[in-house]
Amino acid sequence: MSPHILILGGTTEARELAAALAARPGVRVTTSLAGRVTRPGAPVGDVRVGGFGGAAGLADWLREQHVDALVDATHPFAEKITANAAQAAAASGVPVVVLRRPGWRPGPGDRWHMVPSLTAAAELLPRFGSRAFLTTGRLGLAAFAHLTDLHFVVRSVEPPGPPMPPHTEVLLARGPFTVADETSLLREHLVDVLVTKDSGGAATAAKLTAARRLGLPVVVVRRPPLPQGVRAVPDVAGALERLGLGSP
Ligand code: NAP
Repeated sequence: MSPHILILGGTTEARELAAALAARPGVRVTTSLAGRVTRPGAPVGDVRVGGFGGAAGLADWLREQHVDALVDATHPFAEKITANAAQAAAASGVPVVVLRRPGWRPGPGDRWHMVPSLTAAAELLPRFGSRAFLTTGRLGLAAFAHLTDLHFVVRSVEPPGPPMPPHTEVLLARGPFTVADETSLLREHLVDVLVTKDSGGAATAAKLTAARRLGLPVVVVRRPPLPQGVRAVPDVAGALERLGLGSP
């Protein structure tokens, strides 16, 4: 019987994996999206949208839909669904592969300040500048809402809602971004500090190069840890290998 693979998606890697799996004869692939983005790039294969109702709901779904393997290819900061995936896999006996792109690494000339949370980033921020470029996602803006003296340039895919800082300029855009564009953006908006999560990946890394070139400090929010005992693969090839589908 053809194997059914469920990908927990919302990332570039999840889309790439869905395309790679769909190209294997006899493999059925379903991608699950949380439904946060209004017009997500449609992955190849079947797509389902919305939460499962916790780990138990996901475990039920795995059994009901006869899923043979689960791939958690969600964003490194999507902590809840990753915990749910590990629990649901254990409860249902369905094997799970966690695909996590590697985090970014500072290079010579970088002025990075690593912090454990958005709250810590907001605490540190006023020490480094007064015009911040914030790329931590629209749902994390609340952590900065009390910084009434700072000016924020916020970039997100969907328009953010309150609470947010009073002096906020919103730029709606979806990556990938180039170093030239990021450099212009930082210059035009007179940005003197950048705040980012350690999302990793090429699509949004250009801002870090632009910040380095302009000598700007960067506040980087560290990733949450993976659930105990979980060892992730760093790329699509690694995920295919773990699934036993390494060669087309
Ligand atoms: P989260 O806090 O880990 O998850 C919250 C709840 O959303 C989960 O408990 C689950 O609901 C539902 N959910 C999350 N991902 C899902 C998926 N792929 N399919 C079905 N339900 C899902 O997640 P988040 O940080 O809000 O991220 C939501 C989605 O956006 C993820 O799929 C992630 O890959 C993507 N994303 C997140 C970020 C980020 O910075 N966090 C950035 C880019 C993309 P139930 O418990 O009801 O199942």
